[in-house]
Amino acid sequence: MSMKTAAQALEILLSQAKVIQHSQTVVLQEALGRILAKDVISTVNVPPMDNTQMDGYVLRAEDVTESGTILPVTQRIPAGHLGKTLEPNTAARIFTGASIPDGATAVVMQEDCEVIGVQDASGLNYQIKVNHVPKVGEWIREKGEDIRENSVILHAGTYLRPQELGVAASSGMTHLEVKQRVKVALFFTGDELTLPGQPLKPGGIYNSNRDTLIACVKALGCDFTDFGIVPDTLEATRKTLRAAAEHHDLIVTSGGVSVGEEDHIKPAVQAEGQLDMWQIAIKPGKPLAFGTIKRDQADPSWFMGLPGNPVSSFVTFLLFVKPFIRVLQGAQAKDETRYELEADFDWVKPDKRNEFLRVKINSLGKLELYPNQSSGVLTSAVWADGLADVPAGQAIRKGDKVSFIPFSQLLGY
Ligand code: AMP
Ligand code: MG
Repeated sequence: MSMKTAAQALEILLSQAKVIQHSQTVVLQEALGRILAKDVISTVNVPPMDNTQMDGYVLRAEDVTESGTILPVTQRIPAGHLGKTLEPNTAARIFTGASIPDGATAVVMQEDCEVIGVQDASGLNYQIKVNHVPKVGEWIREKGEDIRENSVILHAGTYLRPQELGVAASSGMTHLEVKQRVKVALFFTGDELTLPGQPLKPGGIYNSNRDTLIACVKALGCDFTDFGIVPDTLEATRKTLRAAAEHHDLIVTSGGVSVGEEDHIKPAVQAEGQLDMWQIAIKPGKPLAFGTIKRDQADPSWFMGLPGNPVSSFVTFLLFVKPFIRVLQGAQAKDETRYELEADFDWVKPDKRNEFLRVKINSLGKLELYPNQSSGVLTSAVWADGLADVPAGQAIRKGDKVSFIPFSQLLGY
């Protein structure tokens, strides 16, 4: 059993993961949080025509070479209505979003014009005094300035946020082809575990990993099945693995990955497929099991066994399972953004392992440390804004720079 760094473990995981090829077409309203399966090409220009950014008057820039020029207003062009060709030395009243008529080259905003005379019933037959010398193109949004016809507007592997859906809609699309959701099975080992809502049995604790890990999987846009609490026996563990493999791409478990005689994950996975047991030089979360479970009719499903301690399973999910799922999803590769922030704490007894400390950003933009960093203390993660990635053996003094990864980055896209 070899000891690996977090980076080495991640590299192996990501090199083994294979993109799930299936995709499906969904309406835009269903596409939030999905991964785009194919490049999207716009068939239109956005905006489709030159149009005005302002309410005002559209004219030919060369007709107004000095401030105070007076022009007759010969047309009225609201948004969604087309004007006629603009004759020299005339202006047209125009409203935001309306097409620029042929012949016109600039818009002067209404605040820079004075109305002379009174509009008739058709809203015309008056003059304006133009108190601003316009430049060619002023206040005109050019056809295609946002999106050019035939250009790629969204790339395969993009995680779809509201703005990506809006861009698709602005090109006139109603549907997008997205990757099929990754199907994840979860189960939780430990005879001590009690389901919330049930009376706590003597010697028992509530199963908290179930809700933490299901929420993580849901936040990544996966489908999931909960196979519940599995007793600490080899037979029960093997049976659940077989059932979980059947319709799922990935099985995630918590607990039972140490090497005590009550830890059955290792022999169970070995019996049902193939397993690598890793000791990763991180804290929390040293043991991690990675392997595959055989299936009759399909390629094996992936297996990732996380340690049972609540902080350990959460942190190892964020560091290892999330990037693995992203590859299965076909999401574009992207490292989470880290920030080099000043420590407002001392950490004088560093571990031999790479530590991921629960920290919070204070009002000075410095990192504060949660006082109890035990892997069983999940409230540390509730208090914290993210993790400080502290290299093995490195002491920290107030004022030192520390690499900080916000939870929003660890769970987001
Ligand atoms: P294990 O990895 O099975 O040795 O468990 C390590 C510690 O985590 C033990 O104290 C367990 O009681 C606890 N633990 C394991 N699974 C869970 C769970 N699902 N929810 C809360 N605590 C757990
Ligand atoms: Mg256990």
